[in-house]
Amino acid sequence: MTPINNLYNQPRMCVCGYVTSFSGSWRAHKKCCTSIQQVKETNDHWRSYDKTLRCTEQLSAKDDLKAMAEQLRAKDEQILNLTNQLQQANERLNAGTI
Ligand SMILES: [Zn+2]
Repeated sequence: MTPINNLYNQPRMCVCGYVTSFSGSWRAHKKCCTSIQQVKETNDHWRSYDKTLRCTEQLSAKDDLKAMAEQLRAKDEQILNLTNQLQQANERLNAGTI
């Protein structure tokens, strides 16, 4: 006779289809069930994949920032060129060459 505290209120069902209400049987099954191992491995695999994906996303975000900084630098150079041209034009204007 199995003591009542070894009995689950709800029967446990394994991913492989094994069903039991006894905690002892459940524990024993969990140790030897290959389906549970596969599920665990798949979960681990997805977790590591997720981690890799997040790292890649962070990297590409950094790349975006780099590209944006590059664009700003190019704009700065453009503005500097325009300022120079304006200054030269002003100097020529002041010198009376135009
Ligand atoms: Zn199982």
